[in-house]
Amino acid sequence: MVIVVKKDAPGEAIAGLVKQVEDVGGQAFVSRGAERTIIGLVGDADLFAGLGFRSNRWVEKVVRISSSHKLVSREHHESASEVRVGNAVFGDGRITLIAGPCAVETYEQTLAAAWMARAAGAQVLRGGAYKPRTSPYAFQGLGERGLEILAEAGRQTGLPTVTEVITPSDVALVVRHADMLQVGARNMQNFALLQAVGESGLPVLLKRGLSATIDEWLMAAEYIAQRGSLNIVLCERGIRTYETRTRNTLDIAAVPVLRQASHLPVVVDPSHSGGDRSLVLPLARAALAAGADGLIVDVHPEPETALCDGPQALQASEMAMLKATVAELGEVLGRLRDLDAAPDLAGAQRGVPLPV
Ligand code: PEP
Ligand code: MN
Repeated sequence: MVIVVKKDAPGEAIAGLVKQVEDVGGQAFVSRGAERTIIGLVGDADLFAGLGFRSNRWVEKVVRISSSHKLVSREHHESASEVRVGNAVFGDGRITLIAGPCAVETYEQTLAAAWMARAAGAQVLRGGAYKPRTSPYAFQGLGERGLEILAEAGRQTGLPTVTEVITPSDVALVVRHADMLQVGARNMQNFALLQAVGESGLPVLLKRGLSATIDEWLMAAEYIAQRGSLNIVLCERGIRTYETRTRNTLDIAAVPVLRQASHLPVVVDPSHSGGDRSLVLPLARAALAAGADGLIVDVHPEPETALCDGPQALQASEMAMLKATVAELGEVLGRLRDLDAAPDLAGAQRGVPLPV
């Protein structure tokens, strides 16, 4: 059961509802989104029958949820949710682009990639400081220095930032530098990490696990929501199949399936799914046509020197083609955002200024 609380409900009203639930032996999980607060109830529905939630003036509605993922379910939220990252919005019906280097390697490389992202109309800058590499001998990321560089690139370009966090103990540090936390495919079922990012107060980009079903992925999102945050964007990044010609198999059907099952925005990563820059545009087109709220794309000023995922990174000319594609499709689909609007610097104020 989920209680949808009215927009203007004061904190005491929410606390009062939680207390009512706990007093009869139930559990209540409060999750806050950009537009609404909901309370997920755990316990036998009979426990709550006489509590009069429906007549409480602060309750918008009470919904019985049949699916196993409750807080992220579409059943209590007919419209899509909006998730805000700085001044960027996911889920408002228009296309939102995240772009940046796979990994933060140097100050110069990150700044160059950030300007390429911005020139192509990106609303959010990506860049990994902690890289979850398959081989322990591969470049593992710059760590805290990488966070500082990314935050500086965000400040200079006016773009809010998203970066991956791979361990719960790093969450507090990453929160100081980034505007959105990324949970990568390899950590989609790291439940301690999901709980920590759910408590962080920052929006979360949750990538699909390498071999995760859509239901497992939604349950991972439920872990985050249960810890207080509905500001979750799901990212389809391809799954492991028997096919070897692509790095992963982009599950395009996941986009409409998620749209039916959940109110959370969905973006697609055509870079990590195809694993090859020649596939990024076709996969991006497919994703947008299928209804994705946005894309997350790797860019690099010199892909041939990249320390991570160079073959899939777009260069400036290819970013211009991506921008044209987003503009064309956005027009046709009636979902175009102004790709040349200067981002507002107020959206990227995190982190300490970097001495350069
Ligand atoms: C990434 O986006 O940098 C990344 C590591 O992707 P994934 O977790 O999808 O493999
Ligand atoms: Mn990568």
